[in-house]
Amino acid sequence: MRRQHFSSQQLFVLRNHIPIDTLIEKHLKIPSKFSEGFFRFLCPVCNEFQTATNPRTNLGRCFRCERNFNTIDMVMICQGLRFVECVKYLQSISNHCQ
Ligand SMILES: [Zn+2]
Repeated sequence: MRRQHFSSQQLFVLRNHIPIDTLIEKHLKIPSKFSEGFFRFLCPVCNEFQTATNPRTNLGRCFRCERNFNTIDMVMICQGLRFVECVKYLQSISNHCQ
């Protein structure tokens, strides 16, 4: 299965159903902390804490790398999984949340 086999609706759910903070802290177990009102995580790319998450868009951002991470990006980078495996990983978490 490739990316095209997932509907945009399915992918939207996966990017938004699981709070990015929860994914980072509980599932991926990335070091994180709460400071100045923001949830900050150790950037998996540069290993710095110059990050924040945005609950409204459900994205993590690294100010040093100047890039945003959605839940799929996060799993892909941290777990070294391919796209389809990331989707399955997120689906299994999502099922447990309900
Ligand atoms: Zn970074």
